[in-house]
Amino acid sequence: MLKSAALAGLVGLVPPSPARVGGWPPTVVPVVSLPRVGIAPERVIREAAGLRPFRRSGFVVRAESLGEKTVVHNYGHGGCGVTLSWGTARMALSLGLATPHREAAVIGCGVIGLTTARMLQDHGFTVTLYAAALPPGTTSDVAAGVFAVTEIAGPDQLGGPFLPQLQEAVRFAHRYFQPLVGQSYGVRWVTFWMIGPKPQTQPPDFAVTPEIYPLTSYGPGEHPFPARYAASFPTMIAETNVFLPRLLSEFTARGGRITVRAFSSRQDLAGLAEPLLFNCTGLGARALFGDEELVPVKGQLTVLRPQEDIDYCYLDGQEFLYMFPRSDGIVLGGSHEAGVTTTDPDPRVTARIFNGHRKIINGMR
Ligand SMILES: Cc1cc2nc3c(=O)[nH]c(=O)nc-3n(C[C@H](O)[C@H](O)[C@H](O)COP(=O)(O)OP(=O)(O)OC[C@H]3O[C@@H](n4cnc5c(N)ncnc54)[C@H](O)[C@@H]3O)c2cc1C
Repeated sequence: MLKSAALAGLVGLVPPSPARVGGWPPTVVPVVSLPRVGIAPERVIREAAGLRPFRRSGFVVRAESLGEKTVVHNYGHGGCGVTLSWGTARMALSLGLATPHREAAVIGCGVIGLTTARMLQDHGFTVTLYAAALPPGTTSDVAAGVFAVTEIAGPDQLGGPFLPQLQEAVRFAHRYFQPLVGQSYGVRWVTFWMIGPKPQTQPPDFAVTPEIYPLTSYGPGEHPFPARYAASFPTMIAETNVFLPRLLSEFTARGGRITVRAFSSRQDLAGLAEPLLFNCTGLGARALFGDEELVPVKGQLTVLRPQEDIDYCYLDGQEFLYMFPRSDGIVLGGSHEAGVTTTDPDPRVTARIFNGHRKIINGMR
């Protein structure tokens, strides 16, 4: 009691509500302040935009025949391809292991192609990667790389047959990323804050695997953000500027070959020498395999100069504004524009992102 009274006196805050005192989890300690992002036009170093490969019914991991060959699909990861990568790679591997083949072609060299290729190599497959674009030229390079399930399916699909697949992918990936924490893979733990006018609870995408997002809730005056309520949880960030080149170099070090090549049809793919193909073409699967459910959802980012003291993320879910700290810059998002096919930054979106974040950051105490 003395301790909490002293703390309340020290920071001038009301003690946490009685509902959260005692028992487990322990009393919430108010967070007095956090270092502020330096937000000014002259700190902007670049803008970027990418097209999330979104399917209303969720990602596709399944096998089909292509003449004498087998194609294992692994695409449609929406706004969380980095997050799910190892999880769906593991599912695709299981389908590959069920065939008699151990010589594989992986089509696509974004995060899904690379994790699939590495997973196959680790299980005895000889792999060749074919892709129209390599890092740093893929959508995966645009991703901030925060481990969070978002924009993966229509809200009505989360309770349907897709649910167990999604749960399996999230849980496997969350476990698989953990030993990769360290500078060599660019993976680290960060605190993620959600802020808003109402008490913050797990969004439906998070509630799919609730144990992965253990929220600590904060009421008015208990956190430094200019919002009534906040909640924080620990998560990982896989900096794609480190993670993807690392996967690529591991792939080649283990004998993997890479061919830059664009495929225009299934027939084109049927001409490959390998008997087993993994389709990891992201949005490219729409034209290549005629999947019309796959639609682009444009996301735009403004990147500020790197700032080493920032080791937390925030998301204002109501305004859809998020800040993710990376060693190559402070990433400010966000936007989601379904059906937009250009990756040119839109000046109106740039202004909304910048002004929205300036309001949040300048309002922090
Ligand atoms: C602004 C933004 C922020 C994001 N932030 C996050 C985040 O914080 N966390 C997270 O988990 N996810 C995030 N994402 C989502 C993530 O970027 C995607 O889900 C992920 O990149 C999809 O990976 P992919 O490998 O399927 O596709 P891609 O990265 O697009 O790779 C596709 C590969 O297939 C190749 N290809 C396609 N068609 C053909 C063809 N016909 N012939 C040959 N090769 C072909 C391409 O050249 C490329 O090599 C974000 C996305 C955006 C836009």
